[in-house]
Amino acid sequence: MKEAFLYEKLADKKVRCNICPRRCAIPLGKRGYCGTRLNEDGTLYTLIYAKCSSIAADPVEKKPVFHFYPGSQVLSFGTLGCNLRCKHCQNWQIAHARPDEKGSGLTEVSPEYAVDLAKRYDCQGLAWTYNEPIIWFEYTLDSAKLCRGSGLYTIYVTNGYITQEALDMIGPYLDVFRVDIKGFTSELYKELSNVPDFSPILEAAIRARKRWNMHVEAVTNVIPTYNDDENQLRGIARWIKNSLGVNTPWHVTRFIPYLELSHLYPTPTKTLERAREIGFEEGLSFIYVGNVPGHPGENTYCPGCGRLVIERWGYSITKYQIQDGKCQFCETDLNIVGSEVAERKHAT
Ligand code: SF4
Repeated sequence: MKEAFLYEKLADKKVRCNICPRRCAIPLGKRGYCGTRLNEDGTLYTLIYAKCSSIAADPVEKKPVFHFYPGSQVLSFGTLGCNLRCKHCQNWQIAHARPDEKGSGLTEVSPEYAVDLAKRYDCQGLAWTYNEPIIWFEYTLDSAKLCRGSGLYTIYVTNGYITQEALDMIGPYLDVFRVDIKGFTSELYKELSNVPDFSPILEAAIRARKRWNMHVEAVTNVIPTYNDDENQLRGIARWIKNSLGVNTPWHVTRFIPYLELSHLYPTPTKTLERAREIGFEEGLSFIYVGNVPGHPGENTYCPGCGRLVIERWGYSITKYQIQDGKCQFCETDLNIVGSEVAERKHAT
């Protein structure tokens, strides 16, 4: 076990974890809400440092991240546990699991070995994904620091429920904050994910962008009867435009019934198309339809001249007409970072 970062010692050998806004006050011998942090004799330990449940080399488009090193491969890591309890979690087998105190059954991958693996498998970066990266903060921070010296980029695929002090510790070492915006009211967040107040998520996304200059992309999994109404979708789109900028990509993805929401139906394509229209009406430039392979809403169109500049099929790029992050036809800036990777890839 490794001693946790960012905790306080309280009376009676209680401790307070300050990694996420739950700020759990954890009694002696108990764990926090996420099940991964144990108070042993008044010291807080993480039970999942370097303990991986899932490792895969994925296209960056699978995160989904469409405007950062498009076409590159990213070595992706997950562990066990989560600081939210989403009723529809697609990765509930790992996200709702509790590690035992030895982390047995999980594969140990040190930060050094993770970097080595990424290079060996020709990946351009590391991503912490599949379950919430914030809960193995210590491991992701140590790994992200190593990436800085190794020429690898770093991605958090996150629910965004992180404290400012944790974000400020890892901010200098993270390149991408791929954040879920699940809805636009606290009632929705409470009902869907047991989050009492979603404002820290919005604040974290803004801080990631403005204080730490991260590349931010937002994802909304559009769930029938939960967040598919005009008010939720328009609220999210307007907030992205006003707080993160018109060129921030917004992915509206198809919900697949899981877990406590197994009784619902998958999101109709028309609903996703309407969400995309709402995004355009609110002034966003890049709105993507997700989990509908072959839909034209997977493509990037230049907001300047309207031409198709990146054509995709699922996670693959089939056409790429961008030069230095700009439209090849009219030179409009498309907020695409690191396009040379894709150019190199597609030139071969
Ligand atoms: S990271 Fe876990 S233990 Fe820490 S505050 Fe969040 S839910 Fe509680």
